[in-house]
Amino acid sequence: MREIRVSLGARSYPIVIGAGWLRALGERLREVIGRKAIRAAVVSDSRVAPLYVPTVAGSLREAGFAVSEIQIPEGEQHKNLAWLALVYDRLVESQIERSSPVVAVGGGVVGDLAGFAAATVLRGVPFVQVPTTLLAQVDAAIGGKTGINHAAGKNLIGAFHQPRLVAIDIETLRTLPRREYLAGLAEVVKYGAILDADLFASLERDVEKVLRQDVELLAAVVERCCALKARVVEQDETEGDYRAILNFGHTLGHAIETLTEYRRLLHGEAVAIGMVCAARLSHAVGSLPRAAVDRLEKLLHALGLPTHVPADLKREQIGLAIEADKKAAGGKIKFVCLETIGSTRFEALSATEIARAALP
Ligand code: NAD
Repeated sequence: MREIRVSLGARSYPIVIGAGWLRALGERLREVIGRKAIRAAVVSDSRVAPLYVPTVAGSLREAGFAVSEIQIPEGEQHKNLAWLALVYDRLVESQIERSSPVVAVGGGVVGDLAGFAAATVLRGVPFVQVPTTLLAQVDAAIGGKTGINHAAGKNLIGAFHQPRLVAIDIETLRTLPRREYLAGLAEVVKYGAILDADLFASLERDVEKVLRQDVELLAAVVERCCALKARVVEQDETEGDYRAILNFGHTLGHAIETLTEYRRLLHGEAVAIGMVCAARLSHAVGSLPRAAVDRLEKLLHALGLPTHVPADLKREQIGLAIEADKKAAGGKIKFVCLETIGSTRFEALSATEIARAALP
């Protein structure tokens, strides 16, 4: 078992990483939150629930919790107020108390929605993340951002609510659809690109092991990414400034996702394209060597990720989508550039300049 601590004073918590350890979750949760809590709620989605809820709920029952199981349908379109309302209903019906943990078992959708429910029900109850996608294990489950979508845009309603425990079982990635796994790798590459040249080089070296999901290697990579995210969150818990480096590749990624109506590309795939464009721009306006842009593109390609803007998108459309997203009409956007592989700097750029780099 590997363990990382996110140090945020009274809101500090452990991230525990292992393979095949979910049946011990209840015991570990008792160590973290104590013996007082009687009830717990497990929130999951329709795809993940049959796979992992029996083990998680069973383990919590063995540790003495009275468990209620709550399910939402899978998919981003259900991260909304209507399904949040259902979760509130079920939590209230099950008579949870201020000490009762809400345990999210699933990807970022379940984690975000259940986390927001935990942040707000009874003015906040303990929250536990059991992330089951690679994206959630290295990113979404850590750092306390919770929330739901609004018709006007993604993640418009939310709260910061740090979990008390993040329990990562690498084995859960075995059932993840291949495309979702590869999309998660884009965020892994991102950590290497912005913060850790050694991680980046090890991914280049171990492409084959990464692709066959070698458990040892994956545990080490997930641990490294969690540690990197933890250090960023510790320095800037509520995204005042520094935490925005995690948005590398996301300005263009979001624009591409919006223009393709969230249907054609997974988030990680759009971010992969966005990172290549951002690296190209970093070369054009800054010090990033051309060879580093090529390394990034080559690594993403080797990991089965797209690296080119879809052919039907126009530069003007991309510029407008960035402006709308960043509410930056005419103004400058704080854009994350690479200085080298492993370090970044912010650059004030207009949406037009960014779009020009996406489609030169
Ligand atoms: P997701 O939660 O939709 O999961 C992707 C798909 O995989 C779903 O169909 C799910 O049912 C299925 N699945 C999950 N785990 C599985 C498993 N082990 N085996 C089989 N199927 C499995 O998507 P995601 O990529 O995990 O998360 C995306 C969400 O995360 C977005 O809503 C995004 O806004 C959010 N997010 C939040 C943060 C944050 O800091 N809070 C950061 C990044 C992303």
